[in-house]
Amino acid sequence: MITTDIVVIGAGPAGLNAAITAASMGANVLLLERNVLEGGQLIKQTHKFFGSKAQHAAARGIDIAKALYQSASQYPNVTMKFGATVLGYYEDGVITAEHHESIITIKAKKYIVATGAAEKSLPFPNNDLPGIYGAGAVQTLTNVYGVLPGKKVLMIGSGNIGLIVSYQLLQAGVQVAGIVEAAPEIGGYLVHAAKIRRAGVPIYTSYTIKEAYGTEMVEGALIMQLDKNWQPLSGTEIDIPVDVVCIAVGLTPLTELLWQAGCKMKYVPQLGGHIPVRDENLTTTVSDIYVAGDVSGIEEASAAMVEGKLAGAAAASSLGYGSGKFAEIRREALAQLAELRSGPAGAKIRKGLKLLVG
Ligand SMILES: Cc1cc2nc3c(=O)[nH]c(=O)nc-3n(C[C@H](O)[C@H](O)[C@H](O)COP(=O)(O)OP(=O)(O)OC[C@H]3O[C@@H](n4cnc5c(N)ncnc54)[C@H](O)[C@@H]3O)c2cc1C
Repeated sequence: MITTDIVVIGAGPAGLNAAITAASMGANVLLLERNVLEGGQLIKQTHKFFGSKAQHAAARGIDIAKALYQSASQYPNVTMKFGATVLGYYEDGVITAEHHESIITIKAKKYIVATGAAEKSLPFPNNDLPGIYGAGAVQTLTNVYGVLPGKKVLMIGSGNIGLIVSYQLLQAGVQVAGIVEAAPEIGGYLVHAAKIRRAGVPIYTSYTIKEAYGTEMVEGALIMQLDKNWQPLSGTEIDIPVDVVCIAVGLTPLTELLWQAGCKMKYVPQLGGHIPVRDENLTTTVSDIYVAGDVSGIEEASAAMVEGKLAGAAAASSLGYGSGKFAEIRREALAQLAELRSGPAGAKIRKGLKLLVG
């Protein structure tokens, strides 16, 4: 069995930053990542990020992933295993992971769960036809592997993911027939929506997908208008011929390991679903388990990086590492999180966090 001070699960922006911070304070860290690439969702983000300099704003997501990986690689007390999927957490605080077709068991003094999130799907007739994709799959195909999903796409969802993926598809030469949004307003930043509209793509607010159709694969979709009570209005159907329907209706935290470990969970829709109850240092109700990033509530990579730093420092400090560094890191991280969650864009997150405490 492998033993270490801290195991970090997930090498996205949260997990990489947690590993870097804990190692910089002197703790021995084992970072486990199920993918063969580092960076989590950042590996498919070819666009430049918003935010502040402290969280790599104006850099492309793919470059932030490389920078964080290089920084983690500089610490001799960080071991990274890629292609290592953590499968289970057991009563005695041992975890198992599948790595290169064998099972390894690991016992750490502290765990930082930074597993990110999974995409939500939508129920509608024929949603299992070839050509129906999640936005993450479309981004991975296009931006990581250079493979186009099809020729003409209907995007469902106008949050930032739907808008950004639509724009990236246009850049890759794919037609975007339209973006369908059930809410009466566009969900994502208007700056992204404006770019899409300038390219001539219609955004149908208060519309939903009624069904997809096709024999062997998607040949088109019917969309229909919703009234102010979100009920479909018959007679408003529009037939849109496409070979791809891309679903971008939100993310839900990947919390299975936290449920297994018996962490107290709470349903907070503003943060994407069931999320772990934790204190300000990101310690869950199981005192040896910390969380950081989208698994603790859907936000953005900027907040995930800051949370990773905070969780890494809290875990290392609880083991006696860092001689007094924790207070300063904590103060800075909490100030950065407050700033990232300020203003109208952070209102939903602030509301969700309040529910979590209350
Ligand atoms: C289209 C799109 C555009 C975005 N644009 C921006 C933007 O402009 N600015 C911004 O700040 N944010 C943006 N984001 C959001 C940002 O990418 C995420 O919030 C961020 O990646 C979350 O980081 P994370 O480390 O929590 O999770 P992730 O990046 O999802 O990383 C989690 C990692 O954990 C691994 N993992 C999961 N389960 C296991 C397991 N059991 N064992 C081992 N490993 C596991 C996963 O493989 C993954 O690598 C965007 C997201 C998308 C999809």
